[in-house]
Amino acid sequence: MARRRQLYEGKAKILFEGPEPGTLVQYFKDDATAGNGAKKGTITGKGVLNNRISEYLMTRLAEIGIPTHFIRRLNMREQLIREVEIIPLEVVVRNVAAGSLATRLGITEGQRLPRSIIEYYYKNDQLNDPMVAEEHITCFGWAATQDLDDMVALTLRVNDFLCGLFLGVGITLVDFKLEFGRLWENEEMRIVLADEISPDNCRLWDTKTGEKMDKDRFRRDLGKVEEGYQEVARRLGILPEAGPRDMSGPEVMQ
Ligand code: UDP
Repeated sequence: MARRRQLYEGKAKILFEGPEPGTLVQYFKDDATAGNGAKKGTITGKGVLNNRISEYLMTRLAEIGIPTHFIRRLNMREQLIREVEIIPLEVVVRNVAAGSLATRLGITEGQRLPRSIIEYYYKNDQLNDPMVAEEHITCFGWAATQDLDDMVALTLRVNDFLCGLFLGVGITLVDFKLEFGRLWENEEMRIVLADEISPDNCRLWDTKTGEKMDKDRFRRDLGKVEEGYQEVARRLGILPEAGPRDMSGPEVMQ
């Protein structure tokens, strides 16, 4: 079998050339980082769980008409996706005050916001992903006004849908981060949801107890990190068949 060409390695995922033009294979690692790489570790089985959770959420979103880069899951750690031109922005949605919002503005963590807030961060590791305003985004050409309008409309629909989906399984969607890409089809460009949606980029709290079931368990050394991710998958009804022990998954095929 031909070796697959690795195109990019990020902190939590690797991208390989896909089987057909315009496709990529997205491989989910167990590696975890926080504070822009300042804290490093592994969360056993995270890649398998995030692959499955992201597949599930992207599929549910596609069913309600949200365009995404996701095509299908290939195996425990890999999914086939459409190649898109990534817009260099992190779009963060907040429903409850937490993390950097709470720290920066001195707001008590856990306070429900009167309305959802959208924030933008410029994806640039060297600059530590600084927060930016619409003015910066259009001024420096990272996205056009129309692209931003499309991203905001999609983000609000994703937030509405995911809040309801998680609430149904006793989880509060506190905040999350989305990334978007441009997909070109016959000279036409569409903005589509890209990257992943998983406990790596969402804050998910048990609605009754407030217990954290996301990457904050790793960031803040709360312990039981694997268990948090597993619990999210379990509640969504998608824990891999052999249970938590079936998490190591296949290695990258070379
Ligand atoms: N987030 C992310 N990647 C980042 C920064 C933030 O996925 O590089 C997610 C994070 O998991 C949380 C939300 O975006 O769900 C808001 O994060 P925040 O700004 O509070 O930053 P943090 O406290 O994680 O540094």
